[in-house]
Amino acid sequence: MRSEIIAVGTELLLGNIVNTNARYLSQQLADLGIDVYYHMVVGDNMQRLTDTVKKSLERSDLIITCGGLGPTEDDLTKEGVSEALGLKLLPDEECIKKIKRIFALSGRPMTENNIKQGYIPEGAVILENDNGTAPGVLIENKGKIVIMLPGPPKELYPMFENKVLPYLRTKANSTIRSKMLRVTGVGESAVEDMLKDIIGSQTNPTIAPYAKEGEVHL
Ligand code: ATP
Ligand code: MG
Repeated sequence: MRSEIIAVGTELLLGNIVNTNARYLSQQLADLGIDVYYHMVVGDNMQRLTDTVKKSLERSDLIITCGGLGPTEDDLTKEGVSEALGLKLLPDEECIKKIKRIFALSGRPMTENNIKQGYIPEGAVILENDNGTAPGVLIENKGKIVIMLPGPPKELYPMFENKVLPYLRTKANSTIRSKMLRVTGVGESAVEDMLKDIIGSQTNPTIAPYAKEGEVHL
């Protein structure tokens, strides 16, 4: 299965925050044996987001997005994904009730824009958010899977572990094993030269040298 990760948020492009969600999701997908072919980052812009999702749908079986599920105008991920897939975004009564309940319990006033978080693309599965208001969304459409997760890591990690991982385990049937060898006293090019007969065009295993401070990692 080919997958890619789309992180949504202008703050990522500005360098205000580091895309740690992509690292986390990549590690998780590797453990499941799912190939990750691209990491995309796109700002909070409807056109560029829709274009990015369309491009990803052409080349990947599984797309995981993170961020942009919140209540504000610049949270556009569901809108962009729905547009790219040609799906309607519809209010989900259960979701809206739950969001209202969270606000009632917290004692904070609920502004009207929060209702937006209860809009779900038609036919999608809702991934409940136990640590925030924005639910995640899982869509199976025309042989592709699109999973949308909230941006805050404290919401994304548990949602992935509790809801997405069990689902993906039913779809993936292999694992990727990796091992790191540390070599000292030999330069990167010399290491590669020694291994050229197995590095070549081989894809299983894939071997790559990384030059580090005072050593080479394989
Ligand atoms: P919210 O409901 O909180 O608005 P959201 O799904 O709309 O959630 P964003 O608004 O995109 O998510 O991001 C909220 C916060 O989550 C960011 O300010 C940042 O702290 C964190 N975050 C977002 N994307 C990432 C990322 N790719 N890696 C790490 N942290 C992230
Ligand atoms: Mg937001």
